[in-house]
Amino acid sequence: MDYQQILENIYQEIKPYTSVGQQADYIPALAKINPDQFGMCIHTIQGETFKYGEATTNFSIQSISKVFSLAMCLSLEGDSLWKRVGKEPSGTAFNSLVQLEAEKGIPRNPFINAGAIVMTDILLNHLKHPEEEYLRFVRAVSGNSQTNYNKEVAMSERENGYLNASIANLLKYHRNIDNDIERVLRFYFLQCSIEMSCYDLSQAFLPFANHKQTFSFEGITLTASQVKRINAIMQTCGFYDEAGEFSYLVGLPGKSGVGGGIAAVYPQRYSVAVWSPRLNRKGNSVMGIKALELLTTQTQESIF
Ligand code: GLN
Repeated sequence: MDYQQILENIYQEIKPYTSVGQQADYIPALAKINPDQFGMCIHTIQGETFKYGEATTNFSIQSISKVFSLAMCLSLEGDSLWKRVGKEPSGTAFNSLVQLEAEKGIPRNPFINAGAIVMTDILLNHLKHPEEEYLRFVRAVSGNSQTNYNKEVAMSERENGYLNASIANLLKYHRNIDNDIERVLRFYFLQCSIEMSCYDLSQAFLPFANHKQTFSFEGITLTASQVKRINAIMQTCGFYDEAGEFSYLVGLPGKSGVGGGIAAVYPQRYSVAVWSPRLNRKGNSVMGIKALELLTTQTQESIF
């Protein structure tokens, strides 16, 4: 398969979408980014790499970090995690409060904000040096020791994070948060602020594509079955209230973030990351979804 040629064809086809959508501006630090950027990178499980555009430019991974948090929580907490968070698609926005109230503080899944805030609480219960250990894990899966938090983005989000603070308070009211709320939010926003390029992100998702290999990074180990299940949750819950649409258009397990990134996997074949900051109304990258739709269409490869 000539993935390089396919990446070039994809870009030619999606160029007309260059100015469609808006970058996230509810996090003021993200509003400053040039929205007219596009990068894409594929890593195959055979070890080949194909990149296009701004594939080595760092961006804010935001909710894509929720996949790393789930991997750590499953390893550290095991199946008792599922007493505190569900595994059903939410059908609501990533930061919705309504469902959380109706369902008495049990988030629908780990990939909406409420679920990730609960996972952050679980990580705080297990880790002695949470910020350091989280970063060490992400650096190990991405293979890039320079990967880091962007403290300015994290602070900017904390200063304006009224909705996430409400979610955390509602969770605490329902006794689904053990630690101090401020401590939990601070760590949650730091996870979201991690910066990676498409190249690094795609590398970091390769172990999820290659789920039959041992998953073991910095003491975080998962069985093949656990990795397979993380992929299943990406498939059903990775795009909030657009998970069905993404599955329909692209047909791969994946996860998006409001920084404009999307990472996806084709189990046993490749991992892919794409980035373009302009988002649709559901908070997912316009060009990112389009590019992945074309990738699985032009290659005629998808899990379906
Ligand atoms: N940090 C963002 C928030 O909590 C993450 C949301 C996202 O990427 N969808 O609102």
